[in-house]
Amino acid sequence: MLTLYVHIPFCKARCSYCDFYLVTQKEHISAFFRALSTETAARSAELQGQRISAIHFGGGTPSFVPVHFLSEWLEEVAAHCTFTSDIEIALEANPEDLSAETMDELCAAGITRISLGVQSFIAEKLKILGRKHTATESQQVTAGALKRFGSVSLDLICGVPGEDLAMWDADLQAALSLRPRHLSLYMLSVEPKTMLHRKITKGMLTVPDDAVQAACYEEALRKMACHGYSHYEVSNFCLPGHHSRYNLASWMREPYLGFGPSAHSFLVTEEREIRTANVSSLTRYIAVPEDAVVFREELSAEERFTEKVFLSLRINIGLDVEFLRKENKLGDLVLKSIDQFTERGWILQHAGLIYLTDKGFLFADFIAEALIFG
Ligand code: SF4
Repeated sequence: MLTLYVHIPFCKARCSYCDFYLVTQKEHISAFFRALSTETAARSAELQGQRISAIHFGGGTPSFVPVHFLSEWLEEVAAHCTFTSDIEIALEANPEDLSAETMDELCAAGITRISLGVQSFIAEKLKILGRKHTATESQQVTAGALKRFGSVSLDLICGVPGEDLAMWDADLQAALSLRPRHLSLYMLSVEPKTMLHRKITKGMLTVPDDAVQAACYEEALRKMACHGYSHYEVSNFCLPGHHSRYNLASWMREPYLGFGPSAHSFLVTEEREIRTANVSSLTRYIAVPEDAVVFREELSAEERFTEKVFLSLRINIGLDVEFLRKENKLGDLVLKSIDQFTERGWILQHAGLIYLTDKGFLFADFIAEALIFG
């Protein structure tokens, strides 16, 4: 079984906090899809004989491109492999792109899941983030999407300059009142070279301190649990059966193929695990799409171990203490760390497995590092 990712690198405009690879020139869309088609044909051997359980259109803003391009590519890829009968085909979308007509077209194209970049229902926050939609648009589009698609996910951002617990609480309430099937709650990460970073560096804006951010995260965990959402990854919550199939598969280190500029792939055989990356330039991608893969690396045993520890803790599937001790030569140190974290209430142990507690999720990366490096 395999999942596919497609990177659609177009956005209407760059949001103030975003450092993703993307372009804002609409005139390159046709050339991009011609290149995507060429790349897919050139890599058809990787698809042959495979069963595909999920396809994820990410970006950028996949909802920004005309729907017929997506359906044509889906038909092309289906010619090389088999889609499972319950395949999840997910599309990341911005509220301002989704008219009722466009949502109908997306349904007809086979899209089963919409991931909406709502980010906030508060005008002030949306302005600081440089988003182009309003809270009302988000509410109307979410309601329309819930009627049409099997799964609807909303993204919210916390920790925006000027934000406090009351604002975050209002955002959570607004999102929960719509009853989406899935919520992704991200802490704002201020990336270098973004407009937001420049404003913060100049002292024009200030991000909330760690204590406020921690209180917001804890409040989110409490509210999600009260409303029946399961916490299946550091930032992701869902109603039963509505996890993101592509994301979960990649976090569980299952193989996937990525298409489009800057997309990554993870190839797994019995003995080898290989990560590859496509070129991060639309111009170069369009020029030689059949040679899109520019980076290829086989993971060493150490890298496989590190990834397993980091990812198992983030999705909280339980990390085998015995595995840790066996694979990590610093077995005693690992055991000591586990005991210390248990005493602090950051991890709990059950049936030979360790899990992060709600508090532990706040320090997931720190805990993983301590377990690996002692
Ligand atoms: S819509 Fe998403 S990908 Fe596009 S600029 Fe904004 S944050 Fe970045």
